[in-house]
Amino acid sequence: MSDNINKTGITIKCAACGEKFNDLTALATCSKCGGLLDITPAMPALCSEELQNLFDSRVSIATMRGSAAGRSGVWRFRELVLPISDADIVSHPEGNTPLLDRPVISKFAGVKDLLIKHEGFNPSGSFKDRGMTVAVTQAKRCGATAIACASTGNTSSSLAAYGAQAGIPALVMVPAGRITMGKLAQTVAYGARTLLVRGDFDDCLRLVRESSEKLGVYLANSLNPFRIEGQKTIMFELLQQLAWQSPDWVALPAGNLGNTSAFGKALREAHGLGLIKRIPRLLSVQASGAAPFAHDFANNFAKRTSVRAETIATAIRIGDPASWDRAVAAIRFTNGVVTSVSDEQIMQAKQVIDSSGVGCEPASAASVAGVRELVARGIIAPHERVVAMLTGHILKDPEKLLNTNDGHGHPAANAPIEIDATLSAVERVLQNATKA
Ligand SMILES: [Zn+2]
Repeated sequence: MSDNINKTGITIKCAACGEKFNDLTALATCSKCGGLLDITPAMPALCSEELQNLFDSRVSIATMRGSAAGRSGVWRFRELVLPISDADIVSHPEGNTPLLDRPVISKFAGVKDLLIKHEGFNPSGSFKDRGMTVAVTQAKRCGATAIACASTGNTSSSLAAYGAQAGIPALVMVPAGRITMGKLAQTVAYGARTLLVRGDFDDCLRLVRESSEKLGVYLANSLNPFRIEGQKTIMFELLQQLAWQSPDWVALPAGNLGNTSAFGKALREAHGLGLIKRIPRLLSVQASGAAPFAHDFANNFAKRTSVRAETIATAIRIGDPASWDRAVAAIRFTNGVVTSVSDEQIMQAKQVIDSSGVGCEPASAASVAGVRELVARGIIAPHERVVAMLTGHILKDPEKLLNTNDGHGHPAANAPIEIDATLSAVERVLQNATKA
């Protein structure tokens, strides 16, 4: 299929063997060798200033009333994602997530100029909606009859939501007993067929790949190259929010390495097109119980290792990251750093983020914990501008919020208090609160 008829101008090519695919392909991996597919957008015939103006013009009051795709923070950048018309797009809309500034979080991290890019503000409560709008759009374009994914939870919620919108049946495989209540409840409520697999995430991933090969369902996992294309827009949007002035660092939680890969690709494209002059350094942060990539970074990526993953941060509890190769390229291209932080450091950062009124799920807090760690080690300077990404909403993992003990010996920071229905009981609580 190397002679591709290609209306969008994008190139889809196997990273391993170089085989090319039509832009209406239903494949998520190479049919010849099983390798990962890379998408290269056609470079728009606009200069950097014209392109900036085009993207900026779509952020206006007028677009608040247009089509969902016209209002989307993903499809705003469609020339660099998948250049198709509104009618073909399955969009909630998504994206348009805020850049937040909270002195208490900056102080904790040890940098004055810290901004929080909160992807938990997406429609299903996580960054996954960015990639899913593109993957489900592609599933619709190629006439898929069913879509499937393996997931630690956030992907399944997102796939379920977009599958429902597109009217395509969704099949979700999650590790039994290892998915949080918020994510499971969402997935079931949106109507996806939810399979609780007796195994871990890596078992789910293998099973869903086999189902795609043998049963013909469209694979919407992070292996799917269209997901990466959508996730690039987190970076495009944050650069746009900073008036295309790059920060010094962008910190993000790292599990399956889809975002690390997507951010590297976005920065390469944005820089190649002249949208930005300077390339920010990526800081990928893993949980120390699930840190094969941090281990490999320390050995200059001499070889790829995998671990049996264990961490409280379920969204990054991954021992054998799927996007390893692309993520290595991203770290090298951005002169990036990979580090790991303990569950204790993650929960400490989460407590600060939560009590600031922002809130996030545990895995998200790894980014802020990682910034603090690198400041302490003298790698990030206190005057540098840092953007830390939060990946998921606080309600994704409600058990961790209300448990009087989180299972790691940490008492709940602010447990609810049961009282008699009397004013004097309220008064006592109030006195204690003002004393503290
Ligand atoms: Zn191949």
